[in-house]
Amino acid sequence: LDRKKLKRNLEAMSERATRHDLDLRPHLKTAKSVEIGRLATAEHSGGITVSTLREAAYFIDGGFRDITYAVGLAPDKIDTVAGLQGDDVWVNVLVDNVPAARMLAKRADTLGVAFRAFIEIDTGDHRAGLTPDAEDLVAVAQALDESERVDVRGVLSHAGHSYRAQGADAIAAVAEEERHGLVVAAQRLRDAGFACPAVSPGSTPTAVYGKSWAGCTEMRPGNYMFFDLFQAGLGTCGIDDIAVSVVATVIGHKRDYNRLYVDAGALALSKDASANDTMAGAGYGLVCDMAGQPVAGVRVTNVSQEHGWVATANGGDPLPFERFPIGSRLRILPNHSCLTAAAYDRYYVVEGHALVDEWPRINGW
Ligand code: PLP
Repeated sequence: LDRKKLKRNLEAMSERATRHDLDLRPHLKTAKSVEIGRLATAEHSGGITVSTLREAAYFIDGGFRDITYAVGLAPDKIDTVAGLQGDDVWVNVLVDNVPAARMLAKRADTLGVAFRAFIEIDTGDHRAGLTPDAEDLVAVAQALDESERVDVRGVLSHAGHSYRAQGADAIAAVAEEERHGLVVAAQRLRDAGFACPAVSPGSTPTAVYGKSWAGCTEMRPGNYMFFDLFQAGLGTCGIDDIAVSVVATVIGHKRDYNRLYVDAGALALSKDASANDTMAGAGYGLVCDMAGQPVAGVRVTNVSQEHGWVATANGGDPLPFERFPIGSRLRILPNHSCLTAAAYDRYYVVEGHALVDEWPRINGW
């Protein structure tokens, strides 16, 4: 993990949030690290977003107090959430349907525990959430309100479809769709008597390219901390902004096949090939020298569990074997940093060539 790049990415997003008068409630699903969480929230309220309750527990241990668990709440996790909350420690939850809302309200009363709930809004991704004009929107709020222990905090969305948009203008249009959908949903709830104080959009592409966030109160991007080849292909960052890389060692030369092998395969890089949608020939990662400079045209073109195939993207150009003798090291930029980082229990933090720190991270569920 390149500390300078990380800090540059954090500062750019922090400034963006401040410029738009928004709190930054970064999603720590990518970094999953208390150290990074502290850096990412330094200029903001200290609220964060997580993707698992294990992360929530870990960040609570790390001193975080206001956490949004941004996956629709499974009823069998309500008690775990209750157990994590404590003196001024909140794990805000998401619901997008009446049965889940009703179960939360009922359980809140049975346990005698207060909860803060967001209603998830679908602004075009169609993964989760109610559309802003959904008939059930107010019904969900009313179901939550069946318990006075449940506070309807507001509305929240993740514009995952920004990853399918092409170019800055198309992403900006998705951002506006996200903002507008949330504002419409919040207004409907207010008209029905719910204060709806929080209006929360969140994705890296829309955070980077959104022009106005009027009516929103916070943003929750996460991938921006590290970025990756998918984001670079999408245009939300440059290759030089990618803050994490996998260091691999050359273990074999196959000159007959114009290929060499490294000791980093699917488990070290992930098998996520989605970056090829935005960057032709990304393979399973771009190969760089140890200074982080991409080696033109050289990719990880295939992976098995522990082996990475390194070749030229078109297969025809000769591979510079002399630059990579057996035992030498290279850096691989990840296709999807959230998944690649999930293979590791810590970050080796570097500044230039110097190893300056080791930061643990939390994995699992
Ligand atoms: N909020 C939610 C609910 C998400 O699912 C995600 C990512 O999956 C984010 C925020 C952060 O978005 P990104 O990964 O684009 O930064």
